[in-house]
Amino acid sequence: MRTADVIVIGTGGAGMTAAYVAAKNGASVIAIDKMSYTGGNTLAAGSSMNASDPARQGQLTMEASEMSVIKNMLALEPRCELMAQWQADVRKDIEAYEANGDHYLYDSPALHALQTYVEGDYVGNPELIDLYAKSAPDAVTFLENLGTIWNHVYAGMGATWRRTHDVEQNLGPAGRCVRLSAAEGV
Ligand SMILES: Cc1cc2nc3c(=O)[nH]c(=O)nc-3n(C[C@H](O)[C@H](O)[C@H](O)COP(=O)(O)OP(=O)(O)OC[C@H]3O[C@@H](n4cnc5c(N)ncnc54)[C@H](O)[C@@H]3O)c2cc1C
Repeated sequence: MRTADVIVIGTGGAGMTAAYVAAKNGASVIAIDKMSYTGGNTLAAGSSMNASDPARQGQLTMEASEMSVIKNMLALEPRCELMAQWQADVRKDIEAYEANGDHYLYDSPALHALQTYVEGDYVGNPELIDLYAKSAPDAVTFLENLGTIWNHVYAGMGATWRRTHDVEQNLGPAGRCVRLSAAEGV
């Protein structure tokens, strides 16, 4: 019988990340998948990844139409407490942005969460969306530290804000970039 400190069920991006972090911290790891191959949907993914990223977005100029998108978001009636909090956070930032006469492309986890919730027709779980938007910048850095090269930030397919990180590597189906990066240390 094989034993390990950590058993990870599922070898997509989430499972491989968990396996990698556990192994990196000295645990022995067994990763299991129900399929005959590893990678899950992550393997098929385009690899573009949405995250607010002040360093990269700060190099871009915000269009008037983008400011209108923010103002429209702020004018909406909040549907839950977290939405009200996201709006309050963005409002405070935008007031400072305008007072400073800034022109860079504004973004924040609060705006990312707000857009995800509103443009998902309010059906998403606000707590999970909040966690997702707050964690996304760290995920970008995490993958970068594993060797992922982010090309540029743009509004990717289906995205309504220029926070999509495009991967430079060409390793076949693009999801493999993330999968192979994550697998390196396991
Ligand atoms: C065609 C396509 C393109 C996409 N493009 C993008 C993109 O560009 N950007 C983006 O952010 N997202 C994209 N996505 C979404 C993204 O791929 C998923 O959100 C992400 O891969 C989910 O990762 P995960 O680890 O949670 O799940 P998965 O990658 O699906 O991994 C789950 C794994 O668990 C295994 N599993 C499930 N149940 C069991 C069980 N009972 N026992 C053992 N193993 C089990 C599965 O076989 C699978 O390997 C795309 C998705 C698809 C399908």
